[in-house]
Amino acid sequence: TADGEKHWADAVILATPAFVTSDLVSPFAPELSQALAGIRYVSTATVTLAYRQPEVGNPLQGVGMIVPRRENRRISACTMTSTKFSPRAPEGHVLLRCFVGGPGREEQVERSDEEIIADARAELAALMGIRAEPVLARVYRFIKGNAQYDVGHLDRVAQMHAMSGETPGLYLTGSAFEGIGLPDCIHQGQQAAERVISFLNNPRGTLPRQATG
Ligand SMILES: Cc1cc2nc3c(=O)[nH]c(=O)nc-3n(C[C@H](O)[C@H](O)[C@H](O)COP(=O)(O)OP(=O)(O)OC[C@H]3O[C@@H](n4cnc5c(N)ncnc54)[C@H](O)[C@@H]3O)c2cc1C
Repeated sequence: TADGEKHWADAVILATPAFVTSDLVSPFAPELSQALAGIRYVSTATVTLAYRQPEVGNPLQGVGMIVPRRENRRISACTMTSTKFSPRAPEGHVLLRCFVGGPGREEQVERSDEEIIADARAELAALMGIRAEPVLARVYRFIKGNAQYDVGHLDRVAQMHAMSGETPGLYLTGSAFEGIGLPDCIHQGQQAAERVISFLNNPRGTLPRQATG
């Protein structure tokens, strides 16, 4: 652990981002480490904006929008958060969440909060006619938060799972592999847990509790 404590385990599921998992396995699985390091991640930021509902001037029908890249806008999407999840804003208010950054636009995330908020507000004015003064504006950055699947990803993932199989009891999961959406991540986590149970039920496959060297 970070405190230097040691815990012995028969099996371990690594659910960390691929670049972290890469560092963790590098001492005993260098090939796997190298493959994991090849999974690209990009940074995004979200801008959460709250408005007084009567001032918004847009019925906010729907749960959000995605802005096509060719539109060349400074936001890539906007979630109508309080329409999607009504308890997210108190009575008489609405909450929006704009996305900035992402593939090819990561430098946007490095701008100041003030600049990012100004960009998001300018785009909401242009795209949705929202010119009101927000009662709340917050920027959240997700540095290297999104795994990117390049062509050939699934083949490489299959190889990585095969490589992890060379270390008995080691299992990998998370958005780096077979789906970035939350339901995909949950499903992959469940599959990893099932594989561990199956591994633990096979006594010959179980590692000794004490390290041997
Ligand atoms: C801004 C944003 C909005 C999104 N919106 C949606 C959405 O609306 N719907 C949807 O389905 N998906 C959405 N996603 C995608 C989804 O949230 C992610 O793909 C998913 O949460 C990734 O889950 P994960 O478990 O793989 O990784 P994470 O949730 O990132 O978990 C990785 C874990 O590893 C830990 N960790 C990191 N480094 C170390 C270390 N050195 N040692 C120990 N632990 C470490 C972290 O603390 C974290 O707990 C969104 C993603 C982002 C960034």
